[in-house]
Amino acid sequence: MEGYMLEVSNLEVVYDDVVLVLRGVSLQVPEGRIVALLGANGAGKTTLLRAISGLLDVHEGEVTKGSITLDGTPIHELPPEKIVAAGVKQALEGRRIFSEFTVEENLRVGAHTDPSVMKPNMERVYDLFPVLRDRRKATAGYLSGGEQTMLSMGRALMSNPKYLLLDEPSLGLAPQLVDQIRDLIIEINQQGVTVLLVEQNAAMALGVAEHGYVMETGKVVMDKPAAELLEDDDVKEFYLGLA
Ligand code: ATP
Repeated sequence: MEGYMLEVSNLEVVYDDVVLVLRGVSLQVPEGRIVALLGANGAGKTTLLRAISGLLDVHEGEVTKGSITLDGTPIHELPPEKIVAAGVKQALEGRRIFSEFTVEENLRVGAHTDPSVMKPNMERVYDLFPVLRDRRKATAGYLSGGEQTMLSMGRALMSNPKYLLLDEPSLGLAPQLVDQIRDLIIEINQQGVTVLLVEQNAAMALGVAEHGYVMETGKVVMDKPAAELLEDDDVKEFYLGLA
């Protein structure tokens, strides 16, 4: 039998009843791995993450065909809180932390769990991101870009997910911080969390992932081991800037 995985099969998503944005997307995220999802702006990567985490409704989007299964069980008709309970959690889109709340308050909001596990989960997040422990009483809006990224990742980890979905964690960060986020993704994965990483920064994403997908206008156009994508001429030209 295949191992456990998050599996997207032939998924179609429509916005506002008319705009077909995902046109038959299939992708597999085997448990324990890091999988990268690349693609230009507007390719549909964010839409795919919204579909997996059950957040299409709020954006007037809808799955019209295909399925999303977690360890064989369909999840695409579940509300977001049930998807979180099943073990899939997305770090907030565009790091939408509550900027007027403190770091610690933001982490508490992320915990969808029993209060008895709140404390150990918070300690685990603080161990991963010591800067968040140091700044736990700080107002989140005053954190630097890198710290806000860490807070959004930490918040997602508060529900102790099996699968973590990250939407461009390196966005807007200086190279040194991108390296730090990359190392944190590796560490989170080593703690047993499976990661689906959406990135514009292809070099970073393919550096950590074992497998990668490339999307263009609502379709998967490449599905290969990361090492092969790094050697692919189109990937080099369009995503790595190595023409
Ligand atoms: P980006 O990196 O810019 O976020 P992306 O690959 O994540 O790109 P999506 O954000 O999923 O792409 O967008 C895919 C397409 O869906 C785009 O053409 C976008 O304009 C459209 N779209 C996204 N959200 C909505 C919405 N709420 N209503 C209508 N169309 C939308």
